[in-house]
Amino acid sequence: MRLSRYFLPVLKETPAEAQIVSHRLMLRAGMIKQASAGIYSWLPLGYRVLNRIQEIIHQEQERAGHIPLLMPTIQGADLWRESGRYDAYGEEMLRIKDRQGRDMLFSPTAEELITDIFRSYVRSYKDVPLTLYQIQWKFRDEIRPRFGVMRGREFLMKDGYNFDLTKEDALHAYNRHLVSYLRTYERMGLKAIPMRADGGPIGGDYTHEFLVLAETGESEVFYDSAVTDLTFGDRVINYDSVEECQGVLEEFTSRYARTDETHDEAVFDGIPEERRRVARGIEVGQIFYFGTKYSDALGATVQDAEGNKVPVHMGSHGIGVSRLLGALIEANHDDKGIIWPEGVTPFHCGIVNLKQGDAAADAACENLYDQLKTAGLEPLYDDRDERAGAKFATMDLIGLPWRITVGPRGLKNGVVELTSRRTGESVELAPEAAVQQITEIYRKHP
Ligand code: ATP
Ligand code: MG
Repeated sequence: MRLSRYFLPVLKETPAEAQIVSHRLMLRAGMIKQASAGIYSWLPLGYRVLNRIQEIIHQEQERAGHIPLLMPTIQGADLWRESGRYDAYGEEMLRIKDRQGRDMLFSPTAEELITDIFRSYVRSYKDVPLTLYQIQWKFRDEIRPRFGVMRGREFLMKDGYNFDLTKEDALHAYNRHLVSYLRTYERMGLKAIPMRADGGPIGGDYTHEFLVLAETGESEVFYDSAVTDLTFGDRVINYDSVEECQGVLEEFTSRYARTDETHDEAVFDGIPEERRRVARGIEVGQIFYFGTKYSDALGATVQDAEGNKVPVHMGSHGIGVSRLLGALIEANHDDKGIIWPEGVTPFHCGIVNLKQGDAAADAACENLYDQLKTAGLEPLYDDRDERAGAKFATMDLIGLPWRITVGPRGLKNGVVELTSRRTGESVELAPEAAVQQITEIYRKHP
């Protein structure tokens, strides 16, 4: 993309309404624009990151054997009456009437609709296990939408639902989700710690929230600092293996890590003092096993091997897709702007032409631009007729991990400059070598 032809409405001033850094930077970098309270337009740069996050989620869900579909945002009230949640959900549910006066709603989650799909088609135990998921907009009429996309009213969520014959199978689905979520967040360059959470009205011990540690997080968390040393890395896991998934779950959840709802001071005090941590976190996902709650309410049964009709065991799993942009920025920024991890960056690298109009500089930039694209990368070329300082400020603000700076002086010696946004370190090298180095870096981030 050429910046001169792109739509990147960056702001010079810090918007007064933004209280936390991620919100400020998303507005300043021209990623989002508020349409109404808690409802945002995704401007091109923000939209690119949102798409990268979705790609990673889809790839990791596919790896785990989960199947994507898409359900409507606007749903009829009848199914929700069947489950009892039409009344129970309360004020957070946006209720709408159509022209016939029928009750409709904007889906805050989709257990009812997915269970209806399941019960309409699936009859036999041979058709489970089955896990279906979508990435779709949700609406919750939050009392206090704030912090930009962190707590929106309209927000993008990956929501998945597993259907299994037995509790045992459903717990395997639970563990499988835990593993796939660990991989998903790590690929985005985020450390999200699974913490024992509260099942709320659903109850039970089987729920974990994934939290990104950040001072601006809305949740208070308590953990053994040893949990922050765990990384999943690039290990390959057989998602069909009950033992392997269980093993990962044990590795990542046996140390103390809880939200305030499940915090137990007595157990916490048993941890050596130097490892006890009280901090704040951003909830970027949650997984549940809730048994037959919805299959009982909506009559989702299958015939088992003996011919008995039994309700399926279910769980649900969510990732806060749009919230993740906020969490990523909270965890990756400095006073100049955003620092995108390679896995989610909107463009792979920036090209800054120090002297637009200089024949040699222009030609070298065009060349780099073509070569990077030929290598399968997406560069952002700042070809505007602007001062070098303004170009650097824009690049630093929007946070591309790598920048190639091209100027007449360097070109005389056959070199350009490659700069890391994270460390600020620069090296001079031949243009071809810069392309090669960047290509190499992104080989690890498909
Ligand atoms: P919270 O406790 O933050 O209100 P929740 O527990 O009600 O969230 P879930 O039903 O678990 O949310 O939804 C799955 C994920 O969707 C959450 O882990 C979170 O990342 C995201 N999410 C929930 N509500 C919002 C919101 N208002 N704005 C943005 N993301 C949200
Ligand atoms: Mg939650």
